[in-house]
Amino acid sequence: MKSLQQELDRRRAEHLYRRRRVLGSPQGPLLQVDGVALLSFCSNDYLGLANHPDVIRAMQQGAQHYGAGSGSAHLVSGHSAAHHALEEELASFTGRSRALLYSTGYMANQGVITALLSRGDTIFQDRLNHASLIDGGLLSRAHLKRYPHNDMPALARLLEAHAGGEALVAVDGVFSMDGDLAPLSDMAALCSDHDAWLMVDDAHGLGVLGQGGRGSVDHFGLGQAEVPILMGTLGKAFGTFGAFVAGSEALIETLIQQSRSYIYTTALPPAVAEATRVSLRLVEKASDRREQLQQLIGRFRAGAEQLGLLLMDSETAIQPILAGSAERAVNWSRSLEEKGFLVTAIRPPTVPEGSARLRVTLSASHTLEQVDRLLEALGQLDQGDRA
Ligand SMILES: *Cc1c(COP(=O)(O)O)cnc(C)c1O
Repeated sequence: MKSLQQELDRRRAEHLYRRRRVLGSPQGPLLQVDGVALLSFCSNDYLGLANHPDVIRAMQQGAQHYGAGSGSAHLVSGHSAAHHALEEELASFTGRSRALLYSTGYMANQGVITALLSRGDTIFQDRLNHASLIDGGLLSRAHLKRYPHNDMPALARLLEAHAGGEALVAVDGVFSMDGDLAPLSDMAALCSDHDAWLMVDDAHGLGVLGQGGRGSVDHFGLGQAEVPILMGTLGKAFGTFGAFVAGSEALIETLIQQSRSYIYTTALPPAVAEATRVSLRLVEKASDRREQLQQLIGRFRAGAEQLGLLLMDSETAIQPILAGSAERAVNWSRSLEEKGFLVTAIRPPTVPEGSARLRVTLSASHTLEQVDRLLEALGQLDQGDRA
């Protein structure tokens, strides 16, 4: 038996040790973290809805009406009118025939891929895809073909070489640790040429990009015909919890019949569905919040470039600053914390070796002044510690 403690010690020595922080406040720019007030730049609450009074009220009223828990799986006795209404509203929002709620995005990705693929089929994945897509592929037992980040000629070659079995291309619409977009129009064309499914995980695009926050797929003007499988999460820009898959009638019925992470788990609390129905309405109307976010992004990028920080090619709310080594990323994060800022270091294996970074995320609830304060603190990082 290997020594667990030795492995933990090795992680610590390599600056890869992860630890949890204890929050004593709601999400928002100002957090109580382990008893200390910090200005946070690392949540995925891009529109500032996680602590919105209307969303909170809807959750309270949902709990009054439905109680605290759903009591059962969707296929047994846990599928409430609240879940059902939210599914219909999500289908209409995304312009898809139907939508199906999952408890988490992790489970949705796993549930879709394992329902559609099995041994002998092939899944094609960008090297920077989210872990939940990778894990779903592994669990399905399909062949895994990974291509370099956003490398369309490489994807085309892999699809051309594919023979026999189903083919599914799965991709993040907005890459979670880099903030850049997948070239979805090119991918849709490739998939159509090669009779492959295209599945887009839009965890970071929904609510933020596209008309009315309809996400990266809408940003590229693509519909259900081009992107037959759309996955979205509700715990990020929507500010609540859960996830959904949207697509054709036949896709959703297939998932209801066969998707194990849908079938064998308790339904979300109906109160969460009620809260999400309200946050969906807020998302649609949130053009001022999206505009504010764009302003903050512009201000941050201009300021960071002036400081000579190594930014990535991102126009979204995810604005990583490349550090390189895990040690440097951790040092940066620590010295920011001493100045009152919470910006987490992202290290391997979440990102490739040698590309550890600070993952700065902006939210519409930040002010320009708060971004300026962050920039000032970034400018004070030890010169020797700068990229
Ligand atoms: C957060 C995230 C998920 C997982 O969603 P959860 O609801 O948090 O389980 C899946 N894919 C991507 C790209 C994500 O960023």
